[in-house]
Amino acid sequence: MKEGKEEIELIKEGKRLDGRGFDELRPIKIEVGVLKRADGSCYFELGDNKVIAAVYGPREMHPRHAQDAKMAVVKFRYNMAPFSVDDRKRPGPDRRSVEISKVSREALDPVIMREYYPKTAIDVYVEILQSDAGTRTAGINAASIALADAGIPMKDLVSSVAVGKIDGEIVLDLNAIEDNHGEADMPVAMVARTNTITLLQMDGRLEREEFERGLKLAMGACHQIYELQRAALIDRYSESVDVGEGEA
Ligand code: UDP
Repeated sequence: MKEGKEEIELIKEGKRLDGRGFDELRPIKIEVGVLKRADGSCYFELGDNKVIAAVYGPREMHPRHAQDAKMAVVKFRYNMAPFSVDDRKRPGPDRRSVEISKVSREALDPVIMREYYPKTAIDVYVEILQSDAGTRTAGINAASIALADAGIPMKDLVSSVAVGKIDGEIVLDLNAIEDNHGEADMPVAMVARTNTITLLQMDGRLEREEFERGLKLAMGACHQIYELQRAALIDRYSESVDVGEGEA
């Protein structure tokens, strides 16, 4: 258990409190192109997490001195709405949101072909409307889809999920009770098709063997999420883009 936390039984008769098995994701719902004024957008639900990602750009970068003459600058703002959590969250940026914005940008950066758009900015906004742990992973999944929806050239999508340890067991996709009272939480993001990890963080402690098992579990789940992301994009564009069998 993480230090200073009250002990709660999180696994009963081999099931988690919400009835999931150890290697089960929460239900995922994806909608692409939900915002009229954004160049690309996505609504993403992961269990009780509800997030929206909006992408603007590539557009002229201001201030000019911050421009990169060779490539686009990607900006990422993660924001948790005051009403998204049980205890009202104070509005505005804090250390946590600055950290999550930074690691999320770095998780997406390797797939964005920034060299196509020198001197421009690509703005990615992630708004957490309802939160139940794993918001950074939901935000990365949503942002990745919103970037594709904006038509920004990308090498691939990025998929993300957390694994953790509760009551001594390695489990997938922790919810808030599990995150608060568990022993460890490890968010992962990856380019599923190439198995390239672009984000790996850990809060708490894992043995080496647990870490390896957890990483494998997360990587498998990222493949599942990738298929859902891809299906949501194909669904959105199937009328305008001809996607043949085994292509796309
Ligand atoms: N949380 C909260 N208030 C805060 C920050 C976090 O209630 O100011 C909750 C929220 O449910 C969040 C969870 O704690 O999803 C886990 O937060 P963490 O920092 O681990 O990030 P996340 O798992 O959401 O990426």
